[in-house]
Amino acid sequence: TAQNKTEDLIAKDRKYLWHHLVPYNEAVPPTVVVEAEGSWVTDSNGKKYLDGMSGLWCVNVGYGREELAQAAYDQLKTMPYFPLAQSHLPAIQLAEKLNEWLEGEYVIFFSNSGSDANETAFKIARQYHQQNGEPSRYKFVSRYRAYHGNSMGALAATGQAVRKYKYEPLAPGFVHVRPPDSYRRPAGQSIEEFNLQCAQSIEDTIIWEGKETVAGVIMEPAITGGGIIVPHPIYMEKVQEVCNKHGVLLIIDEVICGFGRTGKKFGHMHFNMKPDIITMAKGLTSGYLPLSATAVRKDIYETFKTSEEYGYFRHVNTFGGTPAACALALKNLEIMERENLVERAHILGERLRAEMVELLDHPSVGDIRSFGFLLGIELVEDKVTKDPAAAKVGKVIAECKANGLIVGRNGDTVAGYNNVIALSPPLSATDEDVDFIIGTLKNAIRNLQ
Ligand code: PLP
Repeated sequence: TAQNKTEDLIAKDRKYLWHHLVPYNEAVPPTVVVEAEGSWVTDSNGKKYLDGMSGLWCVNVGYGREELAQAAYDQLKTMPYFPLAQSHLPAIQLAEKLNEWLEGEYVIFFSNSGSDANETAFKIARQYHQQNGEPSRYKFVSRYRAYHGNSMGALAATGQAVRKYKYEPLAPGFVHVRPPDSYRRPAGQSIEEFNLQCAQSIEDTIIWEGKETVAGVIMEPAITGGGIIVPHPIYMEKVQEVCNKHGVLLIIDEVICGFGRTGKKFGHMHFNMKPDIITMAKGLTSGYLPLSATAVRKDIYETFKTSEEYGYFRHVNTFGGTPAACALALKNLEIMERENLVERAHILGERLRAEMVELLDHPSVGDIRSFGFLLGIELVEDKVTKDPAAAKVGKVIAECKANGLIVGRNGDTVAGYNNVIALSPPLSATDEDVDFIIGTLKNAIRNLQ
């Protein structure tokens, strides 16, 4: 029976599998997913859940796309592997396609994960300054609450202490500033004033660190994993101005915000900005195969060719840009274009937001933030003190799960702000899917005492 099968699977899971991130919880066994279609996944007991997190913010075109499997299969048969020290057709085609999506002139370096893409960006930034006669520029400015990956550099860029302190020392040279968390701005300040002040703190930090030591600034268009913190446009535009003024490269991490999630092709396109380096992963293949990319402004790339001392970027990635992953990514982008999923993300996001803001009258709902089809609901114990209500988030998540809806949680555990419910559903969600999300999540929150 399904029940026996599940018990057996879970026993083996406990014995052999080291889960990512979460501790083993004897009382709540892992959900073993065996099938998936559209926005829905099915567990080993046959129970269905709407995946309101698109896996790990990545299955943007939804599950069960045979075309994607076919694209990978065809490519694996024709030519499964060749290193990108030379070249192959799917990588060339995908790099060209990404240029179209980026609406600028970029050269693309392929890797496997978001962490990889960010490490690549840091190395490119450092070498760029070295070969440009500014070898002392090695530091990066990042934000508290940001997540940029699990490797020693990307984790150093991350601004959530709880993810880091067991593994330090990490890569040196990363400094952090306050994010524009407008909900928690000082009393009496307007959102615009606070956002400007946060952007100004980046300039102050660059100057205090010694601008001749700063290589780059890294940020997401909106902090996602750290609690869906959406900046006022004034902030991003000032950040761009500060980077230009001080010769610091602007690295935009589009690992979650890219590929339609925010209702535009890339999150930074909501703002008047031109990043020097753009990193992407997740939605590039909708999670069907690992692939990430670091897009570098063409004129920065050109300095690598002409530098007498170096002449190239001494960085290799065995599995970065494998032919099947690139072929699959191309098909994924074709689906997004054919089904207008970028526009759809905007429309669905507007609808979700309009429905969810009705919850602001609930005593535990402190703030609701959205950016395209990405939504965060911050729960508090008290609307005046804004004390984070992390346990209530746990209750809402459990009730949603029991009723067949997977939602996420995020924030920063050390600061006590692990109190944000996150939603990042497939961009291909149907109207009925969105009705289900709205109904189930609203009920779970209304049921809070
Ligand atoms: N950057 C951001 C904004 C992310 O959310 C993540 C992962 O969640 C990463 C980078 C790291 O990506 P990966 O887990 O593929 O290494």
